[in-house]
Amino acid sequence: MTGGTVEVAVIGAGFGGLGVAIQLERAGRGSFVVLERGDDIGGTWRDNVYPGVACDIPSALYSWSFRPSAGWSRRFAPGAEIQAYLRAAAAEEGVLDRVRLGTEVTACAWLPGDRRWRVTTTAGVWYADSVVLAVGRLSEPRRPDLPGLDDFGGPVVHTARWPEAPPVLGRRVAVIGTGASAIQLVPELVDQAAHVTVFQRHAPWVLPREDRAVDAVERAALRRDPGRMTAARDRLFEEAETGFDARAGDPVALAALRDRALAHLAAQVPDPAQRRSLTPDYEIGCKRILFSDDWYPAVTGPGVTLVPAGAARVGPGTVHAEDGSAVEADLIVLATGFHAARPPFAHRVTGRDGTTLAEHWADGMRAHASTVMAGFPQLFVLNGPHATLGHSSAIDMLETQTRYLLDALDDRDTRGRTPVEVWPEVEADYLAQVHRRAQGTVWLTGGCDSWYLDRGRLALIWPGTASDFRAAVRYRAADFRAVD
Ligand SMILES: Cc1cc2nc3c(=O)[nH]c(=O)nc-3n(C[C@H](O)[C@H](O)[C@H](O)COP(=O)(O)OP(=O)(O)OC[C@H]3O[C@@H](n4cnc5c(N)ncnc54)[C@H](O)[C@@H]3O)c2cc1C
Repeated sequence: MTGGTVEVAVIGAGFGGLGVAIQLERAGRGSFVVLERGDDIGGTWRDNVYPGVACDIPSALYSWSFRPSAGWSRRFAPGAEIQAYLRAAAAEEGVLDRVRLGTEVTACAWLPGDRRWRVTTTAGVWYADSVVLAVGRLSEPRRPDLPGLDDFGGPVVHTARWPEAPPVLGRRVAVIGTGASAIQLVPELVDQAAHVTVFQRHAPWVLPREDRAVDAVERAALRRDPGRMTAARDRLFEEAETGFDARAGDPVALAALRDRALAHLAAQVPDPAQRRSLTPDYEIGCKRILFSDDWYPAVTGPGVTLVPAGAARVGPGTVHAEDGSAVEADLIVLATGFHAARPPFAHRVTGRDGTTLAEHWADGMRAHASTVMAGFPQLFVLNGPHATLGHSSAIDMLETQTRYLLDALDDRDTRGRTPVEVWPEVEADYLAQVHRRAQGTVWLTGGCDSWYLDRGRLALIWPGTASDFRAAVRYRAADFRAVD
């Protein structure tokens, strides 16, 4: 067992937690620890190793602005390359030895008498002046409540817990779900499985991916002139920002996006009946838009059956669909996403007056500046409420929140290290602004239910551009009060 006392305890070693660790180290704030339940760093990119896994925002943008890489082999790097990027960054920045692997945080409680946090883990207890929750938004796989799933009799695998050698070869595979993971996985399964059946409750909107290899010559040119990497990133950032217009509900932008997606479908699926079952029944952008050049050919090709209905129940060796049909299967793949808007971790965090974070979020996730909560002094949540985007990279958002954290720590130093928490009115006012901004967005008006929402209200996504987020998430000392 280990444990100890630090200025900052960071929980989670994904892009969020590692980014914070690097910036703390660079700022000379050496008193910190990163507590990670997994057996490696990387978060999303450690856990998601299914065939075909890759980012869907170009790697030049889906990486840290302060560590551009000339090494990406493709425009959209495969997951293993992203994981290698994170490992190399952590090692070169000297933060690897700050990470305690195999250390799950089981409770995190503010101690009013001590005016600091007690962080209880499976490998010891830590005391920290400040805590950063970087436990991820897509880190708790969601197993659907399908009657009979436990009686299937064969392996049931979630995409985010892909085993080393799942029994796919020559087997009949039932894939439940058609979201971002399924769309990457299914084209890869086709070559291996005897047959793949895909259960699709709602057809996704799909745009061309336009992936390509980055050859050695191009990579060498980037290495020689890092300015080109920054310029490419800036260009991608600005291009992506324009994608918010459609999400905001602008009819012209929506029509343009819709037309592109429908043209992609028409070009890849000539058969009208197949096209009908692959045409979404909600507005584009309402759920995450997917990018693929091989999804439509895969699901309309030989070796795949698309069931245009969700899975309803499971029997021994059989999956029954909501439309009454049934298929026999040897393996079930759950491409069913994550517990996003109701993170189980929130039950483990107890604030100043004994309220848990789950209770604080009973009506939906909320945080001032998408980062700090009233009643939870010196606690910062990354990639939590209203902190992700539908149209651009999560990494820029994490960097904005990390700057906020560092400014908060600097301010604390100038105040003699008195712990502070955000005024409840300030938190309420921010939430009201977020909900005002959300009105008219496609997430609320597009006729779908997505993981961005919680009981009809926007919970996770930031209803603006990444630049708007940078402007909104600025540390102001006046938003906080001292905690006695
Ligand atoms: C397949 C996939 C593809 C994606 N592609 C993109 C993309 O192209 N673009 C994009 O912007 N976003 C993408 N995302 C979203 C992605 O999750 C974020 O971009 C980013 O990686 C999140 O980093 P994070 O550090 O916030 O969370 P995570 O990477 O999830 O890391 C959280 C860490 O916290 C740890 N943890 C959780 N609970 C505890 C506990 N109790 N104790 C200790 N440790 C704990 C977890 O083990 C994990 O290591 C993708 C997500 C998935 C699943």
